[in-house]
Amino acid sequence: MVRFARCNALLSLALDSSGKGCRYVAKGASDDDVVKEMLEHLTSVHQVEGDMTANILATTKTNNG
Ligand SMILES: [Zn+2]
Repeated sequence: MVRFARCNALLSLALDSSGKGCRYVAKGASDDDVVKEMLEHLTSVHQVEGDMTANILATTKTNNG
């Protein structure tokens, strides 16, 4: 099983570096991995500051497929 979170579920109007809706998906074997990966993405691509951990966990789901 893989845990994942979608960027556009966190930032409803998030745009990627080319100005399109951000399709980034953070994946990991555990919630901790997903949070770490997504925090790096939010910081580097969207310049989001502050602790988004709770928001990320709220949108993290399990991929059973
Ligand atoms: Zn993004």
